[in-house]
Amino acid sequence: MGKTILILGGGTGGVVAANVLAKVLPKEHRIALIDRNENHLFLASLPLVMIGKRKPSQITRSLRKLESRNIQFIQAEVEGFNPHEKTIQTDLGALSYDSLVIALGAEQQGLPGYSLAMNPYSLQGALQLQTELSRFRQGHIVLFVSSLPFTGAIAPYEIVLLLDAYFRQRGLRKKVQISLVTPEDRLLSMASPRHSARLAEILTKRQIRMHTSTEAQSLSQDRSLTLHPGDITGDLFLGIPHHLGPAPLRHSPVADPQGWIKVDPHTLATCCPDVYAVGDATGIVSVNGAWIPKVGFFAHYQAEVVARNLALCYANKESRFRFVGSASGASMLSGYNRGCFVSIQAYANPPTGSLSTPNRAAFWTKALFEKYWLSRWF
Ligand SMILES: Cc1cc2nc3c(=O)[nH]c(=O)nc-3n(C[C@H](O)[C@H](O)[C@H](O)COP(=O)(O)OP(=O)(O)OC[C@H]3O[C@@H](n4cnc5c(N)ncnc54)[C@H](O)[C@@H]3O)c2cc1C
Repeated sequence: MGKTILILGGGTGGVVAANVLAKVLPKEHRIALIDRNENHLFLASLPLVMIGKRKPSQITRSLRKLESRNIQFIQAEVEGFNPHEKTIQTDLGALSYDSLVIALGAEQQGLPGYSLAMNPYSLQGALQLQTELSRFRQGHIVLFVSSLPFTGAIAPYEIVLLLDAYFRQRGLRKKVQISLVTPEDRLLSMASPRHSARLAEILTKRQIRMHTSTEAQSLSQDRSLTLHPGDITGDLFLGIPHHLGPAPLRHSPVADPQGWIKVDPHTLATCCPDVYAVGDATGIVSVNGAWIPKVGFFAHYQAEVVARNLALCYANKESRFRFVGSASGASMLSGYNRGCFVSIQAYANPPTGSLSTPNRAAFWTKALFEKYWLSRWF
C-alpha cells in the first residue's frame, strides 16, 4: 500500500528531498511538501539583491511547479507535531505521515532595538537595503552578527566585500566606512587559522574594519550599537538576527532547548521513529564542540542521504547512505568579478575549512550554480 512522506519546508533541504524522493520512489507513494510561502527563495543570492544585481523574480520559483513532478504542494503554516499519532498540525488542520522530513530551516529573532537595523537575511530586508544603499553617499555602515550559530557561514563576509565593491564602483568608497562585528573568535571560525588569516588579510586590504569575539547586545536611537565589550556608532546598521530552531517543534521530543533538532550526524534520524531532519533546523556539533556550519551545501547533501535511505527502506533494503560533513566547490563572492572557493570538513578531527585567494573562476561558479539550482529542481 502507498505511504505518505511529508516534507516540512520548501527551502534548500525540502526541495532536494522532495525531488529525489519523486525520482527514486515507486509512484504508489505520496510525497507532500508543506511551506508557508508559495515561493522557494534562493537565499544565497540575497546579497546580490542588496546591491541591485538581482530582482526577486530571478531568485524565486513557485513551489507549485513541483506538482508536475508528482509532488503535492500544500501552502500552510506548520504549527505543531505529535509524534505519537504521527501527525503534524497546520493552520489547515492535521496531516498524517508514514515518514516525516523536517526541513524548516532556522527562525530569526532580533535583538533589542533591532527595528532600527536592516535585515540582509530576508528578501524584504535585502530590497529595503537596495533602496537605502542607493541613497547612501557617506557615513559608517556596520554589519553585525547577533549570535552563533547563524546560517550561511560565509554570507557576512560576502556582504561586506560586496558593499566595498558597490561603493568603489560608485566612486564613494573614501566617504564610506564599513565595519563588521561578529561573535566568532576569528573570521570564518570554521576555517583553519591560516585560511581565517587569509580572509582577514582580504578584508584589511579592502579597508573593512573587523571586531571579532564581540557580542552585539542592543541598538539605540542615538545610532549606537551596544557591544560586549564597548559600543560602536554608525549611520546604517545591517543586522544578522539571532537564529533559533523552528518554533513549532521547539518543545517536542526531537528538539534541544533552543529548538535545534537533534539528529544522528550521519543518517539524520531523530529519536522519533520515521522522523528525520535536515539543513539549518538541525543542531549538529563537531568534535571540538562547535556547531557545524549551517550552509546550503549541507542541507542539500543531508536531504539526498535521507531521501535515498527512505527509498531503500520502502524497498525493504538496508540503508547505506551517510552524510560525511564535507563540502567543497562553494564560493564566496569577493567583488563584482571575483570570488573565493570555500571547502569545509566539519566532521574531521579537528574540523577544518579552507578559502582560496580571490579568482574569477569562483565568481562564475557561483553565478552558474544559481542558474543550475533554479532549473535543476523546478
Ligand atoms: C544571505 C544568505 C546567504 C547565504 N549564502 C550561502 C552560500 O553562498 N552557500 C551556502 O551553501 N549556503 C548559503 N546560505 C545558507 C543556506 O541558504 C541555508 O543553509 C539553506 O537554505 C538551509 O536550507 P533549509 O532547507 O534547512 O532551510 P531554508 O532554506 O531556510 O528553508 C526553510 C523553509 O521552511 C519554511 N518554513 C519555516 N517555518 C515554517 C512553518 N512554521 N510553516 C511552514 N513553512 C515554514 C520557510 O518558508 C522556508 O521555505 C546563505 C543564507 C543566507 C541567509
